[in-house]
Amino acid sequence: MPKDFLKDVQEEYDVVVIGSGLAGLTSANLLASNGYRVLLLEQHYKLGGMATWFKRPGGHIFDISLHGFPYGMVKSCRRYWTREIADSIVQLEHIRFDNPMFSLTTTFNRADFTTLLVDQFNVAPEAVEGFFTKARKMDFQDDQKLTTRELFDEFFPGREDVIRLLMEPITYANGSTLEDPAISYGIVFSNFMSKGVFTFQGGTDRLIHLMEEEMKRNGVDIRIRCNVEKIHCQGRQIQAVEVNGRKIKAKAVVSNANLKSTVFNLVGEQHFDHDFVESAKAVRLNNSSTQVYMALKPDDLIDESTGDLLFSSTAPVFQTELLLSRDITSRTYSFYYPRTRPQACPRCLIVSSTNANYDDWAHLSEEEYEASKQNLVDTTLDALDKYVPNIRERVDHAEASTPLTFKHYTQHIAGASFGTKFEGLQVSFDLPKQIEGLYHAGSVGIIMSGWLGAMNYGRMVASDVDHLLMNKSSRTTEKVGS
Ligand SMILES: Cc1cc2nc3c(=O)[nH]c(=O)nc-3n(C[C@H](O)[C@H](O)[C@H](O)COP(=O)(O)OP(=O)(O)OC[C@H]3O[C@@H](n4cnc5c(N)ncnc54)[C@H](O)[C@@H]3O)c2cc1C
Repeated sequence: MPKDFLKDVQEEYDVVVIGSGLAGLTSANLLASNGYRVLLLEQHYKLGGMATWFKRPGGHIFDISLHGFPYGMVKSCRRYWTREIADSIVQLEHIRFDNPMFSLTTTFNRADFTTLLVDQFNVAPEAVEGFFTKARKMDFQDDQKLTTRELFDEFFPGREDVIRLLMEPITYANGSTLEDPAISYGIVFSNFMSKGVFTFQGGTDRLIHLMEEEMKRNGVDIRIRCNVEKIHCQGRQIQAVEVNGRKIKAKAVVSNANLKSTVFNLVGEQHFDHDFVESAKAVRLNNSSTQVYMALKPDDLIDESTGDLLFSSTAPVFQTELLLSRDITSRTYSFYYPRTRPQACPRCLIVSSTNANYDDWAHLSEEEYEASKQNLVDTTLDALDKYVPNIRERVDHAEASTPLTFKHYTQHIAGASFGTKFEGLQVSFDLPKQIEGLYHAGSVGIIMSGWLGAMNYGRMVASDVDHLLMNKSSRTTEKVGS
């Protein structure tokens, strides 16, 4: 008989969270720690969503999205998770750039960038100061018409080299482009500039394991291999979710699934106002990615001066289309030294990531797809040889993932790595105004994507759900009392 992944599940919960990405996990944990009965449903056999890892023979453990996040994660992890998690966050000190315009190494914070821009790029100190101040002050309420290109033109007109330094890592970090609203760049850039780039010591597997333990302590009912097929509403109120053939009632539902899937597949557009549906239809997905995972032979170590993160490009200029093109010119290499996982076998691993278009991969025949993946591995090894000499002889394992891989494991439409473009944020915010008790928390609007963005959005939504449930319970108490 097939295993019942919903064995002993209750008929009703205060909150059902659909999806265990960092936003879903954070919402579930906070709501349970506030005393609510929380059910967490994940369709995959592992928790974490894009925050995940996989193992290969030879003791190799690859991280998929642990490349770097801002210092803000320390505070978020301490407040919404545990001190042990927060204390495991460590800095990546060697961030390298190598492209036809410049080659440099930086600690990627405001002080170091100011020195670089003034001394190496010969930019006037007032322009640098003005730029940092404007980026730092940006928030959601700001002018959303100003594009990132216009922001750069205000302070660094004609300086494509400066734009490349400032923009390339953020495009990598959240998929934003020069054509997107400047706030989607400014907020994320300033977050990084406060102290630099950080990572989680012990790897994603350790982080998710610690999160799972904390959720269990707080009483979250966690279920894997539970694909939610439908969210049921009664009029404009949330009623239940349908999962593995069962209907489970809930006072509130937090969907960590893709925003567009939540509206159109899980709920259904007939339950929303016409204008809301039109806005949701107009939301553009963010791009996807390809990655190549490479492990060196067990005793082979890379010198740490190679860098922690290396933004490499052979493109003469920085252009959005070039960054997404299947004809790859830009690769971001993450180097994982044995200190990444002090508890595991000492290994040196490299993950090469490139932003990518789903359509470049989605319509290939099986043969073409496999050949394209092999080509991705081969061209990446060739490109990496510049930084890790003789890599082909040194590599023990190499394989690639594509936008289809990300779609397969997380059900994100078109394998979107960073949720939706900016307009998705308002649609996500408006969901509970359409249906009482229905929330979305997850990569959206560029700003709320990435480890920090997703986790913080999970916290924001948990607090909205808390308000709703408190109001509901006081309404019930009033009724009983009257
Ligand atoms: C290649 C790559 C590299 C990245 N690098 C970085 C980085 O260096 N730094 C950084 O900060 N961020 C990075 N990111 C982005 C970051 O990983 C994500 O933005 C973040 O983890 C997303 O969290 P989330 O909460 O939005 O949920 P997701 O991770 O998108 O997870 C959603 C979850 O919902 C589940 N789900 C979906 N539908 C259903 C359903 N119907 N029923 C049940 N479960 C469902 C999925 O299985 C999944 O587990 C990277 C992403 C990718 C793809």
